[in-house]
Amino acid sequence: MVGKIGKQAVVIGAGMAGLAAAGALADHFERVIVLERDRLPDQAVPRPGTPQARHLHVLLPGGQRALTDLFPHFERDLINAGSALLRVPRELRVEIPGLGPLPSRDFGWFFYCASRPLIERLTRRQVERLTNVTMRGGCRVLEITATSDGAMVTGVSYETADGWQETLAADLVVDASGRGAPTLALLRSFDQPVPDEIIIGVDLHYTTTSFVIPLDAPTDWRGIASHPHAPERSRGGYMLPIEGNRWVLTLTGQLGERPPAEPDGFMDYARRLETQTIYNAIKHAERLGGFERYGYPASVWRRFDRLSAFPRGLLPIGDSICRFNPIYGQGMSVAAQEARLLKQLLKGRATKPDPLAGLALAFFSESLPLVEAPWNMSAVPDLVYPETRGERPPDFESRLQYNGALIRAAMRDPAVHRLMAEVQQLLKPPSALQDPAVDRLIQLELSQMAAE
Ligand SMILES: Cc1cc2nc3c(=O)[nH]c(=O)nc-3n(C[C@H](O)[C@H](O)[C@H](O)COP(=O)(O)OP(=O)(O)OC[C@H]3O[C@@H](n4cnc5c(N)ncnc54)[C@H](O)[C@@H]3O)c2cc1C
Repeated sequence: MVGKIGKQAVVIGAGMAGLAAAGALADHFERVIVLERDRLPDQAVPRPGTPQARHLHVLLPGGQRALTDLFPHFERDLINAGSALLRVPRELRVEIPGLGPLPSRDFGWFFYCASRPLIERLTRRQVERLTNVTMRGGCRVLEITATSDGAMVTGVSYETADGWQETLAADLVVDASGRGAPTLALLRSFDQPVPDEIIIGVDLHYTTTSFVIPLDAPTDWRGIASHPHAPERSRGGYMLPIEGNRWVLTLTGQLGERPPAEPDGFMDYARRLETQTIYNAIKHAERLGGFERYGYPASVWRRFDRLSAFPRGLLPIGDSICRFNPIYGQGMSVAAQEARLLKQLLKGRATKPDPLAGLALAFFSESLPLVEAPWNMSAVPDLVYPETRGERPPDFESRLQYNGALIRAAMRDPAVHRLMAEVQQLLKPPSALQDPAVDRLIQLELSQMAAE
């Protein structure tokens, strides 16, 4: 037990948050057991517990670095497995309605583009290399168990695929189940306060398919984001190269717009995006497979950070805390950054007499900026649609104006563009934009916008 915080930790769920958490826990517990209700496939294929895996998943550089900090071979394995390296923003065409594409500049970093099943499979492989971590597929957690007063978690009970029920003792249970249902059920069963939820109802619809990248594919971009002309229209298109020389294309619509899931309707929807860039690229391309749909009703942020007490030995992580509008591609990266923070916290507490005391509250407080920044960048702009459900912040109009001015300044000025990209890609906090030189340029844009 020397240097260890506890004997056994249990992680609920082997999605991206659960895998990253297992990487964070491995140094600090004698054993880590990851329980996943799905059977875990050897191949990089979608599974029922993560239906979103059939859709485009971008791993932002901020998340990529967090995963590499947790698993040193992660980037190497992504490259070896054939992920497509995309120089951003140079090779990523970002079309802003009314302004055109952002300039194609090179800031020296990449997106490692791969399908979500491949990203997850490679992350799982990193976890499989950790000798004290065991992954058990086909094990559905039924409940988190606790002492009779609910103050301390003692483990979990779970059911195997063939109907066996067992319990596992744990010093720490990490709830990476995506919905946080086991955590909320435990809190409710002991009449303990549950976190407030901030909900932004977006009614977003995804339809996704993939294409063979044709020989005559555009040479001036390799990936593209065609944003909707909000608030008048909500149609968007997002396409990236992935392993196997494929493009994965997700068309999106909000609040009544639903991209069709049949060939003619899908192509027609692509043709009627804000620009025809995507349509022109795919119109003669060979489509692979069918169409997948996903309905995303709302972004949800559970404010665990506002609770003043929490059961010892329990920690929700990833989507169990916050589900972000997926168009912005933040969920996996925030989960990885939270796991990296957890590792740092555990390291810092390892020499304390009772390292697990107050761990969850410390984690909620320190992970707040990791969640708040992407939430402000994604969920809040959704409120631009009058139909979006949710409370508009009092300074909503000025935030929108600021965002518009920032994009205009980024178009003109490479340094602002770089900073904006670093913040959007979770490499830097939004405070990085509070630079006097940047602020001057934004104020200039704001006064020009007011004069137009
Ligand atoms: C359509 C869509 C597109 C997205 N695109 C992106 C993107 O481009 N980039 C990005 O970074 N993120 C994206 N996301 C978000 C991303 O998928 C998640 O944020 C990320 O995977 C972290 O999720 P998680 O591991 O917390 O939860 P999940 O991915 O939901 O995983 C939870 C796991 O727990 C298991 N589980 C649940 N309950 C139990 C139980 N009782 N017992 C055992 N196991 C259980 C589930 O089977 C599942 O494997 C997208 C999401 C959606 C919906």
